[in-house]
Amino acid sequence: MQGKKCDRSHHLGLPDYSMMVLLVDDQAMVGEALRRALSEESDIDFHFCSDPQQALSVAQQIKPTVILQDLIMPGVDGLELLTRYREAPGTQDVPIIVLSTKEDPQVKSAAFAAGANDYLVKLPDNIELLARIRYHSRSYLTMLQRDEAFRALRESQQQLLDTNLVLQRLIKSDGLTGLANRRYFDEYLEIEWNRALRDQSELALLMIDVDYFKAYNDLYGHVAGDEVLRRVGEKLKTCNSRASDLTARYGGEEFAVIMPGTSAGGARLQAEKIRREVEAMGIPHDLPTQGSSVSVSIGVASLRPTPEGEPLSLVVKADEGLYLAKHGGRNQIAIAR
Ligand code: GH3
Ligand code: MG
Ligand code: MG
Repeated sequence: MQGKKCDRSHHLGLPDYSMMVLLVDDQAMVGEALRRALSEESDIDFHFCSDPQQALSVAQQIKPTVILQDLIMPGVDGLELLTRYREAPGTQDVPIIVLSTKEDPQVKSAAFAAGANDYLVKLPDNIELLARIRYHSRSYLTMLQRDEAFRALRESQQQLLDTNLVLQRLIKSDGLTGLANRRYFDEYLEIEWNRALRDQSELALLMIDVDYFKAYNDLYGHVAGDEVLRRVGEKLKTCNSRASDLTARYGGEEFAVIMPGTSAGGARLQAEKIRREVEAMGIPHDLPTQGSSVSVSIGVASLRPTPEGEPLSLVVKADEGLYLAKHGGRNQIAIAR
């Protein structure tokens, strides 16, 4: 086996957009003739393989843009070799020009049936040889570039989809607590309102407000205040474990929980549980008295939607409950009539 320079980026697996001819022929004389024919062509690299047993692995290694393949060689049938190129990874689509000793229709049709792309009689005229090498190499390189472009396109489409998923999540969530934000709260309330209207089922809402929170910020600073909001938000998330419940940051130090299919009694129990659990966190606060803990007041509302009603009426009702809870002394739940 003899070779000319072939130690290029082929070996890195990168598409190399120059032409590489692999000649597989047992006769050194043919190899020498083609080497001479191609020696002046600076855009064409040439590699000669005189051992047909090695042909496939050499082809896989040097990644030719066209293979010139002898048909009659000792020990290996040229047609059989064509079939192997066509089945092997890396050589599947490489154009193959069969080199035959004579113009024979039967050999020709067998060669094309085995996967050849072209047929030349040895030794071909230089001009014709070069024209065919260039033609086949260029169409092969174009195909590689197109495949690469498709692959890159698919990859960027996938990245776009992933980014969109992240954006969709972000657009619905509150940055500080990771809970649903106000925008998503409004959307979800509307959806669940309509569902409850169709199903004739109950829809409950809790409005939760941190007690004396302005004073907390004044006493401990806004960074500590933010940390309290994060921890309270986390506690609400674990308290409201039903898949259909939506826990949201309504705004500032106010949270809201939408509870589909929940009666006034059920909502009241859930509210009382939340109130107790927040208090049990024992986050120190000097209001209402020294040594007390951060607490929440909760307004509870539950109703069966009617076609004349609107989602906002549920918020208004829960707000009335919250007002009652605040005026009743805070750290308590209340339900508006
Ligand atoms: P009440 O017991 O009646 O609820 O009194 P309050 O002080 O909690 O209520 P008020 O509505 O007067 O004050 C709410 C305060 O919450 C105002 C603001 O300082 C604080 N706050 C609102 N949003 C944030 C926030 O994102 N981070 C922090 N640290 N504080 C906030
Ligand atoms: Mg408030
Ligand atoms: Mg408050």
